[in-house]
Parts: sequence; structure tokens; C-alpha cells
Amino acid sequence: MVFHVMLVPTLGCPSNCGYCWSSEEGSELMSIDTLKQTVNWLKTLREDSVTVTFHGGEPLLAGLEFFQTALPLIKTELDHLKPALAIQTNLWNMTDDLAELFSTYNIPIGSSIDGPEELNDYQRGEGYYQKTMQGYKIAKAHNLKVSFICTFTSHSIKHKEEILNYFLENDLTLKLHPSLPSMRDDNPDEWALSPEDYGELLVYLLEEYLDKMDEVEIMNIDNLAKSVFRRRGTVCTFVDCMGDTFAIGPDGSIYPCYRFVGMPDYVMGNVHDDPSLDDLAESKPWQLLMEFKDFVDTDCKRCNYVKFCRGGCPYNALAITDAKVEAVDPHCTAYKRIFKEITDKATKEMLSGSLMGNSKPSKTTKYSIMDLMLKESR
Ligand code: SF4
Ligand code: SF4
Repeated sequence: MVFHVMLVPTLGCPSNCGYCWSSEEGSELMSIDTLKQTVNWLKTLREDSVTVTFHGGEPLLAGLEFFQTALPLIKTELDHLKPALAIQTNLWNMTDDLAELFSTYNIPIGSSIDGPEELNDYQRGEGYYQKTMQGYKIAKAHNLKVSFICTFTSHSIKHKEEILNYFLENDLTLKLHPSLPSMRDDNPDEWALSPEDYGELLVYLLEEYLDKMDEVEIMNIDNLAKSVFRRRGTVCTFVDCMGDTFAIGPDGSIYPCYRFVGMPDYVMGNVHDDPSLDDLAESKPWQLLMEFKDFVDTDCKRCNYVKFCRGGCPYNALAITDAKVEAVDPHCTAYKRIFKEITDKATKEMLSGSLMGNSKPSKTTKYSIMDLMLKESR
């Protein structure tokens, strides 16, 4: 797990997605002073390389000037940490100037589309699709790499074939996201995907992916297969994230992750006070997430997948227990289902002696699970 800092310049967002829990009307914008203090704080916090992701709300609301200051500042002042940059945006406010700037710094973009226009706009609001596609065109014109989070909900799960076809036909990279309950808002509850449906979806996508791996990239399936192969998680959901991930809110407050930003109970400190890692470790949120880690060590100890699942996401777990450490991630059922499917396939291949992969010899043959485990991203 690499050291990951999420910079949230604002919780404001111009869109109004049905299941969203992370935006806040009237949210302030991060000042240049707070930005500089954040970079200053990071200079000596840790010594290993860092990934900085701009997140929201909608980070492009911070404007061109903010990014013209932030990007060179991070690259030069944190040069010793070899910073990698990324941004998660709905692309509505993308301009040629911003795209050119992001291209200079080679910043990969994560955006969000839930499938074909009608389905997307049903979930994310009228007009969302066209605005995102307009920004996507600008990003592509500047050779930016764009992948899309596709949120599957209790509604869109009924259209999973249509959604996968959409991503295939449009040659778009897909990272799926199950709609989840939130600690901040009741809105997402009616959209939430059940753990059983999520498990079905993952198995469906795995089967399709083994057939079409050369035509589409599904980032979650790649990560799940690699986690099983390496016997350790390769994304935050499947490692002990506390201490390796932080989020900085618009006022400089430090949180365990972007999902907690804006919740006063989860503030661990503020960059303006220049806290050390030891200071942060004394905060209540840090201790709560450490309590979750201990809980997983006990509760999941008989699970075959604990090494590369680690109880899932602590935020998801806390969201259903009223912030008490009493359960693991409610998607446990889904994780068990997909990890079993992947390990069963790997064992079968091993026993049949085809462990080195078959590189899809014909149209009627699927890729092997080993091909998937060893696959490099596009
Ligand atoms: S709380 Fe969940 S989303 Fe946040 S870093 Fe940890 S695992 Fe990832
Ligand atoms: S699959 Fe479930 S029981 Fe196993 S480690 Fe993950 S959360 Fe724990």
C-alpha cells in the first residue's frame, strides 16, 4: 500500500447525483495558504513516495489558478517523495487550459459515468452525461488518460449487460463502485446495492472479463485477481489503510480518508498545527480505525481470505453500526463470493497443469485466471 494523500479543495459540486453523500452546498474552497501549509506538512511527515489525488466534492471548482499553484508546488517541494498525481472529477468544468496543465504533469483522470445516457442521467441527474462527455472530449484532445467509475445501484444492477456493453462499445476503462449507505446522509440508502447482488455482479464481470480482457479494462477485477495472486490487497479496501491514507479538507483538517471529510468527529488534526504521525496516532479517529484492525484480526481469523481482504473498508463497516466497531465491511458476502471464485479457478488450473496461462488461443476459449493475475494495465 503506497502512502496516499487525498486533497479535497472543496466539498461543493455542481451535479446532484441521487446517491451522493460526499458533496456539501456552500462548502468553502481551500485557500492557497492552506494548500502551501499542506505541502509543508507533508515534506517531513514520511519518507516514502506519495500519491496525491485531488478529490471532492468537485475539485475542478477550485479553478485554474489553484492548480497552477498546486501542481508545481507539490512536484518541486515534495520532489524527494517522488509524488504521483491524480484527480477524480466529473469533468464538467474541464477547460483546454486545465487539460493542458494536467497533461504537462501527466495526471491520470478518474471520472464517473454509470452507463448509457438515459440510465446514467436517471441516477446522476438530467444533463449529467452530456456535460461529462464534453469534458471527456477536451481531456482526450490533450491526450489525458481517463477511466470511469461506474456506480452500480439497486436500479442499475438490472441492466448490468447493457452497462458492460456500453463500456465495451465505447472503449472506456471501467472501475465499478457499489452504491453504499453513508454516515453523512440517508440519500444513498434506497440506491444501495445489496452484498448478494454485488457478489453476483463481481462473478458476472469476472466471467465476461475472462472472455473480453483484450477489449475492455475492469480495474476492480484486475485488483481482486492480483490480490489473490500476491496474497495481499492491492487497493485500500483490502489492506489496513489507517496511517497510509489521509485526506485534507478545505480548511486543512486532516481525516483518515476522503470518505470522512466534513465530519467533525473524524478530524485527526490540522495541517496549520503541523502535527506529527505520533500526534495523529493519539487522535480518536486513528484509534477507532486501529480498533477495527484488531476486530478484523479476531473476527476474520478463520476466513481463508483474510490476508488479502482485511475485513474490507472500515468506513463501510462503521456506516452500518452507528460508528461502533462491531462488524466488518457489510460487503463481506460479496468479497467471499469473488475470492472463492478466483481461488477455485486458480486451483483448478493448477491441478490441470495449465497454470502458465493460455493467452486465449481461440475465439471460443477464455483467458485463464493466471492470464488475469499476470495482466499489466493498459
Ligand atoms: S476508509 Fe475505506 S475508502 Fe477510505 S482508505 Fe480506508 S478502505 Fe479506502
Ligand atoms: S471475506 Fe469477510 S470474513 Fe473474510 S476477511 Fe473479508 S470481511 Fe473478513
